[in-house]
Amino acid sequence: MQTVRTRIAPSPTGDPHVGTAYIALFNLCFARQHGGKFILRIEDTDQQRSTPESETQILEALRWLGLDWDEGPDVGGPFAPYRQSERSAIYLQHVHELVHQGHAFHCFCKADRLDALRKEQMSQGQNPGYDGHCLHLPQDEVADRLASGEPNVIRMRIPEEGICSFDDLLRGRIEIPWSQVDMQVLLKADGLPTYHLANVIDDHLMQITHVLRGEEWISSAPKHQLLYQYFGWQMPALCHMPLLRNPDKSKLSKRKHPTSILHYRSMGYLPAAVLNYLGRMGWSMPDEQEKFTLQEMIEHFELGRVSLGGPIFDVEKLDWLNASWIKAMSPEELMQAFMAWQFTPDFVTKVIAQIQPRIHRLSDAVDWAGFYFRGAVPVTAESFTHKKLSMEQVRKILQLMLWAAEQGGAWNHDSIQKVCMHWAGALEIKLRDFMAPLFIAIAGSASSTPVMESMALLGPDMVRFRLRQALQQVGLPSKEEQAAWSAWVSEHPLTA
Ligand code: GLU
Repeated sequence: MQTVRTRIAPSPTGDPHVGTAYIALFNLCFARQHGGKFILRIEDTDQQRSTPESETQILEALRWLGLDWDEGPDVGGPFAPYRQSERSAIYLQHVHELVHQGHAFHCFCKADRLDALRKEQMSQGQNPGYDGHCLHLPQDEVADRLASGEPNVIRMRIPEEGICSFDDLLRGRIEIPWSQVDMQVLLKADGLPTYHLANVIDDHLMQITHVLRGEEWISSAPKHQLLYQYFGWQMPALCHMPLLRNPDKSKLSKRKHPTSILHYRSMGYLPAAVLNYLGRMGWSMPDEQEKFTLQEMIEHFELGRVSLGGPIFDVEKLDWLNASWIKAMSPEELMQAFMAWQFTPDFVTKVIAQIQPRIHRLSDAVDWAGFYFRGAVPVTAESFTHKKLSMEQVRKILQLMLWAAEQGGAWNHDSIQKVCMHWAGALEIKLRDFMAPLFIAIAGSASSTPVMESMALLGPDMVRFRLRQALQQVGLPSKEEQAAWSAWVSEHPLTA
């Protein structure tokens, strides 16, 4: 019998998302239960948005949760490399095979033509999609244009009519008319593959047998199925998991909810409780027991027990579950959990260095250092009143810093200082005054350890959380304000 092989294929384009951990968990359980392998592959074909920092954080977050993979970019394996940016030659070779066999074609259409086409289709109430303009170009014309170096992409052919049907392990047969499927770009003008091409080739070459992924990929399945047919390969079994949702049923998004796994780590949730909670998303133990370990989930896992109603990610329920894990621990185990969380020698030493110039007695430490170990700090709108700043300025400062913390990229004292000096200058506010609301939002007090250093130590996730909490007190920007402030931001670009 074929060995079961599953994978998680995150794109390193932002924070490690709880949705990634949720899908990873189900892939891992399915593989382990069948004595198979669980693979981690990095899908970094979007060169503009992918960053090495994001990749590192995804690996770190999944590992913190205890979702260990058998093969991946860091541990290697028989199908290396596991990072798509290192596999370009493989995609090129395969896509040219498709062109050669007439399953794909070069498209020379320029952006302005495609934009006009899209507008036209939209105005007529049609689905936007490529109209096949370059589909029937004579071969010698294509050869000439390629020889002259004209920029082009490679698109896949799609049947003109009929219906695509495929099976989903949870949803049964799914049918999508080909008229709704676009002639997908497979290879971009820069010679890099799109997600669809790279994903299909890698799943095949890495011998993936089951693809468990989020339901947002259902509409891509026809293109994938067709690519498998074009290549003459067998498609893995597909299983589209229900998406995690906010309590109001909308798709889980960071605007409503912290979605970074690292946020939950810095708030002091236990990895086992977070996994347990994610396991409860759309799945239940045969005996409906709420609290279970990863090992128990693997032992009892059955895809048939996944329910398709959108699972709600509700922090209050997570709190309850986390508390029950805490209560069940011995004091020694809980002490270990504290140490692993924020009481590491490294972190505590850095905090001590901050409070050292300020304390007179060791017993002053809690007052000065308490905020380094908190989640939210207790502040109200009044805490932000300032003799030189208007409330509008305070709100704008907080929002600018929130955007900066959402940017990703370097996060240390110097990068934070640069951002603060830039915005203080652009707003024509003295740096000292500009920093005042940040002291309140981050440390909960106007007199505290230097706040740029505190922000660096707390990390961007916790800083975002506190800035958001602060903005909730003083008033989140309205849609109009958001638009006006972001226009202002673009007029005052922060140079590298
Ligand atoms: N790179 C895709 C993502 O970021 C993977 C989707 C899939 O599993 O096919 O979610």
